[in-house]
Amino acid sequence: MDGEDLLKNLRGVTEFEVAGDQPQRARPVRSPRLPPDLSGCVTHVTAGSRKMPVLKALTTTACERDCFYCPFRAGRSSMRRITFSPDDMAQGFMALHRAGVVEGLFLSSGVIRGGVTTQDSILDTGAILREKYGYSGYIHLKIMPGAERDQVRQAMELADRVSINLEAPNARRLEVIAPGKNFDDELLARLRWVTDLRRESEGRLRASSTTEFVVGPAGERDLEILSMTDVLYRQLGLARAYFSAFRPVMDTPLDNLPATDSLRQLRLYQASFLLRDYGFDLEELPFVGEGDLPLQIDPKRAWADQHLAQTPLELHTASRRELMRVPGIGATSADRIIAARRKGRLHDLADLRAVGVVNVNRMALYVLLDGRRPVEQPRLF
Ligand code: SF4
Repeated sequence: MDGEDLLKNLRGVTEFEVAGDQPQRARPVRSPRLPPDLSGCVTHVTAGSRKMPVLKALTTTACERDCFYCPFRAGRSSMRRITFSPDDMAQGFMALHRAGVVEGLFLSSGVIRGGVTTQDSILDTGAILREKYGYSGYIHLKIMPGAERDQVRQAMELADRVSINLEAPNARRLEVIAPGKNFDDELLARLRWVTDLRRESEGRLRASSTTEFVVGPAGERDLEILSMTDVLYRQLGLARAYFSAFRPVMDTPLDNLPATDSLRQLRLYQASFLLRDYGFDLEELPFVGEGDLPLQIDPKRAWADQHLAQTPLELHTASRRELMRVPGIGATSADRIIAARRKGRLHDLADLRAVGVVNVNRMALYVLLDGRRPVEQPRLF
């Protein structure tokens, strides 16, 4: 199979998969080598300081399962069913790779003849790429529900990243949208295996792990999703949780439900980064009502409005962790502030700009410089 054939077969199929840097489906990768109508087949992944285009592919769209939200569910007549052999998938990918269209592969699949058989097909594709073609670039392999532990190990040997989609934050919610899936045994157990295998290998297996939640259709609250996300980050060393705002798919049992506001998806990403990268505890997130994040405000800013607006943080004495709680200050800016204050005093916002801090206006409401609010600070009211 050549690369063009592979892309044409994947057209309109893999837009449902989120796997790269960009959480939103609506940001196609632009490339002079990629026709615009095929851009949904490619996502960007950051490796080190470089972004690379990655092909999003599926071994099959002929799924035998019946998850209520999914376009590939069994019996959905409007879905085009395609299945690639491992040889065809590997050959097509290598053609695209050699042509410079993509630099990496994300390989997922519907379930066909059981999770174990499907996983074998995914593993065979990875093995052909590594062994027959000597391909050493980025591979992300999906772990199928019900895959065996040894298959998970093989996937981690072949891939840079593996993923198992939980889809919902707990068994009760998964039952609503995918009653045929077993949350604990088929899904969460496999994420735990990834962590265990990584630990047992003493550094040999380094594949990172991710998961994805479908947001909205099970009536779950943000608190439930972020509670599970927090467990995955803290206990299982998950690299990233993806959140996919539910979109009703025609000819599925959930096609009468409204789409989830994409702002909710954005707020979940922002909150998950606070848990993963900014030292926030789950209890500190600004949930309202029954346990949802406010839609109209970034959760970090909502927290700062409650905690820093009246008692601003002194930039000369704050710890790195405290600095990173200020809106507009991330890891890089925190490090720049700490380095700059060792050399001398920071008197005003211009001093912060001069040392490379970017979002000074955003932080101005919440900080003190030498005991004073910055002079350029906009007023609260
Ligand atoms: S197992 Fe995966 S591909 Fe199959 S219906 Fe469920 S979500 Fe869709």
